[in-house]
Amino acid sequence: MTGPAILWLRRDLRLSDHPALSAAIASGRPVLPVFVLDPETEALAAAPKWRLGRALEVFAARLEGMGSRLILRRGPAAGVLAEIAEATGAGELHLTRLHDAPSRRRDADVAEALGKRLTVHIHDGHTLHPPEAIRTKTGGAYKVYTPFWNALRQRGVAPPLPTHRDLRAPADWPRSDRLSDWDMGRAMDRGAAVVNEWATVGEEAAALRLRRFITHLDRYPAGRDGMGARDTSGLSENLTYGEIGARTLWHAGLAALQDGTRGAEIFLRELAWRDFAHHLLWHVPHLPERNWRDGWERFPWRPDSPEAEAWRRGQTGEPIVDAAMRELFTTGTMHNRARMITASYLTKHLLTDWRIGLRWFEETLIDWDPASNALNWQWVAGCGPDASPFFRIFNPATQAERFDPERRYRDRWLTDTREARAFLSAVPRSWSLAPPARITPLIGLKEGRDRALAALAGMREG
Ligand SMILES: Cc1cc2nc3c(=O)[nH]c(=O)nc-3n(C[C@H](O)[C@H](O)[C@H](O)COP(=O)(O)OP(=O)(O)OC[C@H]3O[C@@H](n4cnc5c(N)ncnc54)[C@H](O)[C@@H]3O)c2cc1C
Repeated sequence: MTGPAILWLRRDLRLSDHPALSAAIASGRPVLPVFVLDPETEALAAAPKWRLGRALEVFAARLEGMGSRLILRRGPAAGVLAEIAEATGAGELHLTRLHDAPSRRRDADVAEALGKRLTVHIHDGHTLHPPEAIRTKTGGAYKVYTPFWNALRQRGVAPPLPTHRDLRAPADWPRSDRLSDWDMGRAMDRGAAVVNEWATVGEEAAALRLRRFITHLDRYPAGRDGMGARDTSGLSENLTYGEIGARTLWHAGLAALQDGTRGAEIFLRELAWRDFAHHLLWHVPHLPERNWRDGWERFPWRPDSPEAEAWRRGQTGEPIVDAAMRELFTTGTMHNRARMITASYLTKHLLTDWRIGLRWFEETLIDWDPASNALNWQWVAGCGPDASPFFRIFNPATQAERFDPERRYRDRWLTDTREARAFLSAVPRSWSLAPPARITPLIGLKEGRDRALAALAGMREG
């Protein structure tokens, strides 16, 4: 067994709790880590692609520090992997299963193309549980979060696997591209340098972030909703690229819960939302494209418009919405409460098709996750799995009073601060922004709400 085991990496750029890596090592073969810039990865939107490039850079350096390497190659995955297998005499291929439709198609193509020449092992490890593992009593998929959570909680979560610090290198390495030649930040323009200041990249940084977060987990229940403080974990960007495993977060939260830390249970519940999103995406692969709830094709969603563009640019005249959209463009993330407020404003007050908002988040989020983004956009828009769907129309003004009572969040993004200046340096010059104080609101809040409810009533009647 001299031929290596290829470890095909995608969104699992870590050495800890990595079932595919553990299995590749356990095979007794040298391990050959490979990343392929395939057409699916080429198609990533600007911020996720740039952030993936940063993740690859840090992970490759970590492997090199251990005497290993990350082989980078470009082209359709099946062809590239077959070529590497041929050149190195590889006997096995290990990968971590992803759950979105394009990745599933790609994995199936690769398994079919390479299955004749070597053994293909597809592992779980992207979520707490495989997406189809949690089932209703009748064996179906959950459509509502709370029973899904109850089932997950009852089932428990397996402990994380140990961290590997020693990878047996192959005798010869195949050739590799240079990451800098891929220019993965090209579509970010000058925004990349700005967002970089807010990004926390790599497995070691993610582990440190988790340790720090756990020490103030008791602040989480308030921080989860309060927009002024920064008391959430911030770990979504690391989970997205697999720089930390979901089970590691779960068990850190569980240990805190067992120590009596207030807020730990809420953190576990939030983490389980990510699994719920992947569960839904697995069972409903068109979740990012089509309304989850039947009958919503008739809803009079508006297409893209100057109002939607004002929303993207943080120029709606609603201070909390504009602050949040500026946070998104500058940092590549946004507080969860702000995501709900901005998504509700776009889909309800501006009656804009949720897919237009989903695409902008996809373009700008460094924690973009195909499942969480789709589930949450549909949930807020009212066409997704929510018990009180369209009637929940967030009033941005009252949300701001309640969750940003001291105006810290709004001031941070709308007055002359380091953050607000960073936003101005990140945006394209063509945006020609008006000062926040001078923007007339796009629509009155009551008017927007009444219009949205009338549209819903029209859909129901028609
Ligand atoms: C319209 C909209 C779009 C969103 N798009 C994304 C996205 O593309 N990627 C993404 O990771 N999250 C998305 N979310 C969910 C949530 O806003 C982020 O996960 C959260 O803000 C990340 O910050 P954090 O890591 O500090 O979270 P914490 O509060 O520390 O939570 C811990 C982890 O739990 C998970 N989590 C928490 N809330 C949710 C949720 N509502 N849905 C799914 N998982 C959750 C995340 O993995 C998060 O990292 C979206 C929410 C909305 C309303």
